[in-house]
Amino acid sequence: NRPPRLHRDFVMTRPCSLQNAPLRIMQWNILAQALGEGKDSFVRCPMEALNWSERKYLILEEILTYRPDVLCLQEVDHYFDTFQPVLASLGYQSSFCPKPCSPCLDVHNNNGPDGCALFFNRRRFQLLHTTHLRLSAMMLKTNQVAIVATLRCRLTGRVFCVAVTHLKARSGWEAFRSAQGAHLLQQLRDITTQSYPEMDQENRTRVGDGEEGIPLVVCGDFNAEPSEEVYRRFMTSPLGLDSAYKCLSEDGTTEPPYTSWKIRPSGESCSTLDYIWYSERAFQVDAVLRIPSEEQIGPDRLPSYNYPSDHLSLVCDLSFSQQPHRLM
Ligand code: NDP
Ligand code: CA
Repeated sequence: NRPPRLHRDFVMTRPCSLQNAPLRIMQWNILAQALGEGKDSFVRCPMEALNWSERKYLILEEILTYRPDVLCLQEVDHYFDTFQPVLASLGYQSSFCPKPCSPCLDVHNNNGPDGCALFFNRRRFQLLHTTHLRLSAMMLKTNQVAIVATLRCRLTGRVFCVAVTHLKARSGWEAFRSAQGAHLLQQLRDITTQSYPEMDQENRTRVGDGEEGIPLVVCGDFNAEPSEEVYRRFMTSPLGLDSAYKCLSEDGTTEPPYTSWKIRPSGESCSTLDYIWYSERAFQVDAVLRIPSEEQIGPDRLPSYNYPSDHLSLVCDLSFSQQPHRLM
């Protein structure tokens, strides 16, 4: 007697070609169990809808509905006992980076720190390298982290980097988020322009200033509206990134109206905080999973019996542009 899942269609953003199998990327802040029960105070979500014994199946069901090739999660505080073993049995290899001082640890009966986790289809990709980053802001270490993995497609030999991050939350921290974003972009530039001896010219793409690097996908809960400086930094960085969900808008340049919608004692918060960035010279967006309507989300907003997190999952299909280095 559980209510039905939110139904969401894929919007095709360009004619589908049969020859290239796109990469399906999923970005999702799944809501840490300890934070949902102990810190968030979602006033319109019944506590029973947050029971881990049931909520974990809603999270897994959402992931398995879309079967992403690459899955980027934030607020994971059940990696070792749930997501790693379950998703490993379904063919995913993964990496987990806990926050150094996770707020989950303040919650009674917590299950350990929350952090970012990155999963990929291990039949499709070979892992070349993983980096765990602790983000800095103005040279100071912060409590936020990122994972960067370099993957090679077993079938085509194509190499790309994928990163997952979760920037500092709350208003008043806009300059801090921007500084974290600047540090992350610098690290990503270093990683994607490092020379991998096993990689040939075909795998590099021009990233500006005549520099060549590995194609990049960055998924994250940036905790920042598109009006914030950190968004502008990503939009205008020398890495040549664009945001996949802009494809959903009529003019192709506007982010969705919300990716997170919740009601706390302080009031209702409906905001665009989550993004999938991609190297615009290297990838084309083939399809994007639609954002559910206000009616689908319902008057009590998120999380709910129908949907297990206060953030919506973002899913898109990316395909490599043909011969990126010869497009110049
Ligand atoms: P953040 O400010 O980035 O937020 C942490 C989490 O709180 C995020 O997952 C965020 O979710 C969520 N959140 C955002 N807004 C609210 C809100 N209004 N009410 C409840 N939860 C919210 O945390 P930091 O990583 O900077 O850590 C700071 C917190 O960590 C402190 O509040 C403190 O409790 C704790 N702490 C613990 C220490 C320890 O030793 N254990 C040491 C230092 C701090 P989302 O991203 O979805 O918005
Ligand atoms: Ca949260």
